[in-house]
Parts: sequence; structure tokens; C-alpha cells
Amino acid sequence: MLHHRGVRAIDNQFERAIGLFACWKSDRFGGRYIGIARSDNFVPTANNRTLHKTEPAECGATDFGHQIRYSPRLPAARPFVRALRGCCFAWLWLAFLHAAIIARSMAAVESAVQKTGDIAASLLKWYDQYARALPWRAPPGSARTDPYRVWLSEIMLQQTTVSAVIPYFERFTARWPNVETLAVADDAELMAAWAGLGYYARARNLLACARAVAQQHGGQFPATESGLRALPGIGAYTAAAIAAIAFDERAVVVDANVERVVARLFAISTPLPAAKSEIHRFADRITPTKRPGDFAQAMMDLGATVCTVRKPACLACPSSELCRGHRLGIAESLPVKPVKAPKPHRTGTAYWIESNDHVWLVKRPAKGMLGGMRALPDDGWNARQDGDSVPPVAAEWRTLNSSVEHVFTHFSLSLKLAVTSSPVQPEGMMAGQWWPVNSLDSAGLPTLFKKAARLVSGQGRE
Ligand code: SF4
Repeated sequence: MLHHRGVRAIDNQFERAIGLFACWKSDRFGGRYIGIARSDNFVPTANNRTLHKTEPAECGATDFGHQIRYSPRLPAARPFVRALRGCCFAWLWLAFLHAAIIARSMAAVESAVQKTGDIAASLLKWYDQYARALPWRAPPGSARTDPYRVWLSEIMLQQTTVSAVIPYFERFTARWPNVETLAVADDAELMAAWAGLGYYARARNLLACARAVAQQHGGQFPATESGLRALPGIGAYTAAAIAAIAFDERAVVVDANVERVVARLFAISTPLPAAKSEIHRFADRITPTKRPGDFAQAMMDLGATVCTVRKPACLACPSSELCRGHRLGIAESLPVKPVKAPKPHRTGTAYWIESNDHVWLVKRPAKGMLGGMRALPDDGWNARQDGDSVPPVAAEWRTLNSSVEHVFTHFSLSLKLAVTSSPVQPEGMMAGQWWPVNSLDSAGLPTLFKKAARLVSGQGRE
């Protein structure tokens, strides 16, 4: 009767497992195999029982498994061998899994690199066809844009829509066609030209920057992101945008539009502002070395016209096949916005002092809200406190029934209007000037005080 040995590499007879653990099984006749039955596997059963004794005598190769199994001197080794066999299996499985994971992640990296390249290519192709024609832009693929125009537009576009900026941009470039002319502009004239665009600190920084470029850089904007960043009023985003658009430097340009597009392309669900660094990393990954300026503008255009805040037009998007947010059906919910704290509400009073068809206007302090702008005198309201309702001069005041409602970035304001035509002489009490009422449009009043002037005109001035 023959006994079959070695039909499987891993069978129930633990000596086979030990053989496998040794990675190479020697049979009693010196043959080597793993798990394949061969004719010399069929040996007399009796022999099998005494194999551990007979093999050395026959000078055959040592069957280590048999020796352990049948050795009367090593009975305690069995649990150890079993444990070893278990470890061996676990180790093999782990090695296999590890190799599979590495292979899979390599494939994912390959595919991601491929896809990020595809995103840039698809966007540039789309931009060549659908780029918005804007007064500060060169057509796609053409010569670089004048850095002065790029800089001016980027400063104006901060917190402001394209449609609001265009008329201001055209007026500014007609009046001050280059950085040298802007550098010698009269402060009050520039502030008046800026009136209505809001965020007046930008106008003050605009002048400071133009003067720095004219005086320290010979009228030429620095051509690098870091050089631009050192100028007054130029932050990280603006420096990157000018470097990419005007100088074709590979810079990672992330404004609110780009932030939205990137968050959706990569399905980034971390809430803002914590997501900003992650978004920047992904934006960096998809920014190409060729045509980085066009790419930045393509991303801006996509965000403004296709990947809009509400109802993104994914069917018209050149990157829809590569967009994770779209595939997962969560695009519209991205980026996740932080919960906004309610804005505080403030109250205050502005004072309309009129004499001989002129109204008294003051100039607000250079720093702080509406800094450096012409304005009506007020009672000291600001973002942190209500006004004290104390008029700037003693007179007979009449308070209008309606008030002006205005919303600033950080608070909302109800502004009452107190009017007097008493013969007061504010000259000695507060700095300012008499301004003809019928040419208030040219005073460059901020929107709040334009509203106030309209309210006074509408309700009669006595
Ligand atoms: Fe935005 Fe949709 Fe395009 Fe994704 S597919 S980038 S969500 S427009």
C-alpha cells in the first residue's frame, strides 16, 4: 500500500508546511519540489512511519518536518511549529497585500498625474475659445499684458464684481495711463475717482504702490512673485496673479472663483477657511508650466461663468469628466462655507449743514473706515460702537423721519440725518470745506453719504 506524500504544497500534514516554510522541499532521494506529486512520492506506509530513522541511514536528504514530528526528543516543538506556520501564513498574506496596495497606489498616482495634466489642457483649450474679453486682458496666447493694467485691475477687482470695475478701470486708465502718471496723482483727486468702488484702503495703497514702483523700481513692476509681494497693497494672491498674467511666471493663483473650482474638481469637503491650504496644494498640482497666465485666467473665467456658486453648468464644463465633485453629485455644496456670525448693527447720525446752496463736507481721517474720503460730519459711529448723537456744532437741528440703511463688510448701519440751515460757521470747529449742493456728484462721496445726500434732497432741506 502506497501513501501519497506531497500532493499539495500546503496540506494537513504539518511537515509539508515546514517544507514550504523552508521554501524548498527535499525528498528522501534528494529530489526537490513544491507541492507536485511525483512517482517517488509514493512510498511504503511502513517506511513512512520510520522515515525519521531510516533517512539518515540511507543518506537521503533530511526531512526536517518529519524529524520534528516524530522525534521523541522534541515533543515540545509542535506548538512552536504550529505558531511558526501561522506566522508564516500571516506574513505571506501581509506581503501580498502590501504589494497589492503599493501597485494600486502607484496606479492612482499615475492616473492623478495624468488627470491633473488633462485638467490644464482641457481648460486651456476651452479658454482659447471662450475667454472673456476684458479691457485689462490680452487675448489668449498673445503677447503679455501690460503689468500696470493687470495690477490696476486686480486691485480694483478685490471684493468687487467685474461689471462694477470696468467703468472705473476705463476712467482710471484714461486719466492715468501708466504707473508714472498715477504716482504723481493728487490724493484727493484719486480718492474722488475711486469713490463708489468701496474698500477705500485699496485706493490709498494704490497710490503708495504706484509711488514705490516709480521711485524704487524706475517705473517698472518687479517681474517676480516675491518682488511684487514686497510692494504696498500687494498680497499673496495679487502678486501671483500679476506674476502669472503679466510675466508668465508659474505662480499658483487662487482667488474665490479658483477656490470654488478646485474644491469641486477634487471634492474637498473640509470647511473653509481650514481647506485653504489643501485647495492651494491641489491648485499647485494642476498649474502648468506653459501658459500659466492663461491657465489662471481660464480658472477665473470658469469660476465666473460655468462653475458658478449656485447651479454650476457641469454639462458645459471642459473638465466635467475629471471632476470628482460632479461625479459624486456634491459639486454645488462645495466649498463648504464656515457658519457666519451675524453682523452687528450700529446706529449713528450724519449732519447736513447747508448755507447759500453749499453743504459742509469734512475729510475723514486717513486711517480707519472710509479713510481720507470726503463725507458729512457725523457723531462718531464705527464698527464697534454707535454714534453718541452729539452734533458737531450747536444749531437748530431737524432730524429726518427716514434713515439710510447701509451694510458694510463687518456690520450694518442705520444712519439718521440731522439737517440745519441755521447760520452756523463750522470753519473754526472742524476741518472741511463748503461744497456746492448741485455738484455733489463730483465730490467723490462714498456710497453711504451719496445715499444720505439723496435722502436729504428727497425730503427737502427747508
Ligand atoms: Fe465645476 Fe461642474 Fe466643472 Fe466640476 S464639472 S468644475 S462642478 S462646472
